[in-house]
Amino acid sequence: MTLTEKILARAAGRARVQAGDSVWVSADLLMTHDVCGPGTIGVFHREFGKNARVWDRNKVVVIPDHYIFTADSLSNRNVDILRDFVKEQEITYFYDVIDEPDGKWVFDSSKGMLKRQYGSNYAGVCHTALPQKGHTRPGEILFGTDSHTCMAGAFNEFATGIGNTDAGFVMGTGKLLLKVPETMHFRFEGRLQPGVMAKDIILHCIGEIGFDGATYRAMQFDGPGVATLSMDDRMTIANMAIEAGGKNGIFEFDSKTEEYVNHRTRLNGTSTAYQPVARDEDERFSYELVLDLEKLEPTVACHPDPGRRMKARELGHIQLDRAYIGSCTGGKTSDFVEFARLLRGRRVAIDTFGVPATPEIVHDLQTARWGEKTIWQILLDAGVQMTENAGCAACLGGPVDTFGRMNTPLKCISATNRNFPGRMGHKESQVFLASPSTVAASALAGRITDPREYLS
Ligand code: SF4
Repeated sequence: MTLTEKILARAAGRARVQAGDSVWVSADLLMTHDVCGPGTIGVFHREFGKNARVWDRNKVVVIPDHYIFTADSLSNRNVDILRDFVKEQEITYFYDVIDEPDGKWVFDSSKGMLKRQYGSNYAGVCHTALPQKGHTRPGEILFGTDSHTCMAGAFNEFATGIGNTDAGFVMGTGKLLLKVPETMHFRFEGRLQPGVMAKDIILHCIGEIGFDGATYRAMQFDGPGVATLSMDDRMTIANMAIEAGGKNGIFEFDSKTEEYVNHRTRLNGTSTAYQPVARDEDERFSYELVLDLEKLEPTVACHPDPGRRMKARELGHIQLDRAYIGSCTGGKTSDFVEFARLLRGRRVAIDTFGVPATPEIVHDLQTARWGEKTIWQILLDAGVQMTENAGCAACLGGPVDTFGRMNTPLKCISATNRNFPGRMGHKESQVFLASPSTVAASALAGRITDPREYLS
């Protein structure tokens, strides 16, 4: 069996499963957020009754993160709906925006978009917050009401996004009926060269198969090249499995996975017990790609879909209006570090917005020093508009007052994960997906630029 099949077999209580089988699996965790949480709660109460209880209050994790830093009152109200439900159900893990358990969330736009407006429990973008807060464990099944839930596959678990109806059912029963997906195999060899990042790997893979090339399939990433990738790198890759239509993305378990998960679960007091899955000799794949990481170049997914692959050096004629770094895919500490490495001592030529994914990342960037300056200060000096309000921000457009949102038909190079029309705001805007290094080089030049031009 493949890694995905082994996890699904265990969660279904079976010795074996194969692609195409339909099985009832037990969930280890259900994550929801402010956009889909209220709808999921509605389904749960409608189907299980007004007085129903969630199947396990320790296994439902609630993370507001999407439409948070906006004066839109309906968006603010969504966070209050989550808080009321958490109280009603005595849910253990709720990463609220405010500290007052009986308070109401109101974003104060008069304070501006840049200064922190959240309390001490806020965790930021759900997919980045889940591992940081110790909720990702090898061998487990994670369902989330968000398509990029697949990011947790970096930790050798089966993680997938589900709709509100399925999520309402999981909330009530802890179970879900799943068809076992076929598995596509991506074997990595070699090591990335300077200026090339994990984002380039996944953009290359999606370009190879198209934005629907993995529809309802598992994408298994393994091979000797994986050992050279950090956990942040693996998260970037697994995150974008859905951009090829993948049911999930999954990595092998190794000492880096173990170190990360053990540290984070202990730090946060979450369950430290887990059972990773290892590869079998009888794996059957529906597709195979061997990728020499050494040969990869900085890659861009052009408007209007993540499969429109080009090399950054082929796109120098595309003038840009804006650069954006942030999101679960591209807003991690390591992403900002590579971004800052190119911007240090230089000035951006176009409007450039920076949104760290979580408060912990804001803290990292504001405390890590390169010489006299913090990384945060280096970015400010380069002309980047950095906000402390960690969250999804303009990655998916959001209400019109969202920081970095494209309210006019602009061309933007972005470290985010999705570029279908209208994704970051205006429906006639164009988004080019790239690595943080390529976004930095392009912000400096005002046109799409291969970051290796700035490496000496
Ligand atoms: S940062 Fe973007 S992709 Fe990630 S969860 Fe938020 S909206 Fe979705």
